[in-house]
Amino acid sequence: MTYVRRDNTPPMRDCFELQDTDAGGRIGELTVPRANRTIETPALLPVINPNLDTISPRRLADEFGAEILITNSYIIYGTDGIREQALEDGLHELLDFPGAIMTDSGSFQLSEYGEIDVTTEEILEFQHAIGSDIGTPIDIPTPPDVSRERAEQELATTQERIELADRVDTGEMLVNAPVQGSTYPDLREEAGRHAEGTGLDVFPVGAVVPLMNEYRYDDMVDAIAGAKRGLGADAPVHLFGAGHPMMFALAVAMGCDLFDSAAYALYARDDRYLTVRGTRHLEDIEYLPCSCPVCLDHTPDELRALPDDERESELAAHNLHVTFAEIRRIKQAIRAGNLLELVDERARGHPAMLDGYRAMLDHAAQLERTDPVSKGSFFYTSHESARRPEVVRHHQRLDRLAVPDSLLLTEGESSSSDEFDDSWRIEPPFGPFPRALSKSYPLTAEVPDRTDRSALEAAADGVARLVETNPESEFTLAHRSWPAGVLDRVPDRVEVVDLRADQV
Ligand SMILES: [Zn+2]
Repeated sequence: MTYVRRDNTPPMRDCFELQDTDAGGRIGELTVPRANRTIETPALLPVINPNLDTISPRRLADEFGAEILITNSYIIYGTDGIREQALEDGLHELLDFPGAIMTDSGSFQLSEYGEIDVTTEEILEFQHAIGSDIGTPIDIPTPPDVSRERAEQELATTQERIELADRVDTGEMLVNAPVQGSTYPDLREEAGRHAEGTGLDVFPVGAVVPLMNEYRYDDMVDAIAGAKRGLGADAPVHLFGAGHPMMFALAVAMGCDLFDSAAYALYARDDRYLTVRGTRHLEDIEYLPCSCPVCLDHTPDELRALPDDERESELAAHNLHVTFAEIRRIKQAIRAGNLLELVDERARGHPAMLDGYRAMLDHAAQLERTDPVSKGSFFYTSHESARRPEVVRHHQRLDRLAVPDSLLLTEGESSSSDEFDDSWRIEPPFGPFPRALSKSYPLTAEVPDRTDRSALEAAADGVARLVETNPESEFTLAHRSWPAGVLDRVPDRVEVVDLRADQV
């Protein structure tokens, strides 16, 4: 399968190249010149605290295949001893990590403690001096639900810092341009457009952690959608602070490429065990639903019996294994063209995830722009499937089809009578299409025999669209007992026949 580029897209930025897409999700290559590495995205950056490593960076590379990690340059800057060592030997030797290293700037500390004793220029120059591969200016992570005035003011400050960062000489180091804007999607969009207009390289969508902590996945989706509208298709996007594997598929489908996980270690410290369907507490687990080395080697009782530090380390290792496994599963889903089926599956893990998925489908037209015109096979797996980008596209493209003066739209057999000029098929959730298209994607969809109301409503909306764009033609709809509420969506001038009523 190849990535289908839309007409008139600008040339791709130097450090990021898209390989494959599915809905808003993509497989990309992020070139990190200072590390002399190309990182395949979606990628996970484990967070390393230079003062305490639950799992050493060397182990992250060798055992887990981590190609890139993230650490906090402000902690290094502020810790005597480590600071000097980092300046002398460089970050890669300090951490003993062979891959690429991204550094954060202290923005989090700023938001927690109100002030920090370093400027954007100083911290960027420090990040460059210690050998960071991707540096970060000090932005203002505006929390959700603040007044619009505050969100605008803080965004203006973030934008000044980004412009400043663009002027600092950071050599080959890539630099993050954070996208803020709180819970105002239009501010996120403006922030994205401004950030992309600078010469900076990677675009973290910031301050979404409070939304995730409160399970507000729908608001998170709206924030990402806003940022993405401003950023454009070829910008590498980092969902900053997002480390729970449960929401990766959703975030990738929205167009996020990088994730960082402190969760693997933080959760382990509290005896929490990550799964793709949510978090479990170790004391509640009777069976381990995982085949990573930790779970194969231990029973839950054995894990519980370990000394605190060993248990923390084993749980952190499991948490990382499931997290990396989910990234691989998502990449495979993008290659196979069934990312949205995976998102649908993950949405069943928690009602708040379902809200996130439903919010994502509110942006189906936005996702449609990067969705390939042809994929493996559309699986209709829930009533949400009726709102997928493929259905939106089919409806949009009904305008392009030539319609005869008199047309039968039928769920049954083609009509042999000469009452009609032609007869098209009706297939929920897509609606009407000429028989010649039956073998083209997405009309080859696998749909359940026991159809649901959402699929019928989407099909009826397709009929309405076709009828409205062809005012000169006459239409007859032959359906299999669609309920009255569904038929209400079909324009009055369509003649309606119930195929099942005729069989009685
Ligand atoms: Zn495991």
